[in-house]
Amino acid sequence: MSDVFNLLDVPGPIATAISEPFWAAVRRGEFSLQRCEDCGRWVFYPRAHCPHCWSGRLAWHDASGRGVVKSFSVIHRPGHFAWTAAAPYVIALVELDEGPTMLSQLLADTRDAAVGLAVAMRPVRIGRFTLPFFAPAAGHDDARDARDQTRST
Ligand SMILES: [Zn+2]
Repeated sequence: MSDVFNLLDVPGPIATAISEPFWAAVRRGEFSLQRCEDCGRWVFYPRAHCPHCWSGRLAWHDASGRGVVKSFSVIHRPGHFAWTAAAPYVIALVELDEGPTMLSQLLADTRDAAVGLAVAMRPVRIGRFTLPFFAPAAGHDDARDARDQTRST
């Protein structure tokens, strides 16, 4: 998959003054999230005010970069043609260990995608951008266990 990424020329995120610290951390291979200095809750996506208590005191902190797949979809026909060479691929909602949910790409075989799969952030360079994708945090056996568990319920 990474060979395909090298060939992609895709539209990327537009960083703003508020979101730039997030993207700068990803470029360094790190994962940062905002945390509210008043209510203590973590926030994603980057913003000016806490969505929980409306405080304007949000500060950037190192975050684990770990989470669990909450939902996913296998993309066969990308919404933008620039991603066609990468299809099929997996888009996932990742519930971060800190609480917020983030939409990202899952670096896994489409057959290994599963709700409950433990994942970790893995920065991927695509053209001019470095994007925070996620990969299984454990081996494929764990991925299959999670998938089988989902199917049996
Ligand atoms: Zn707050």
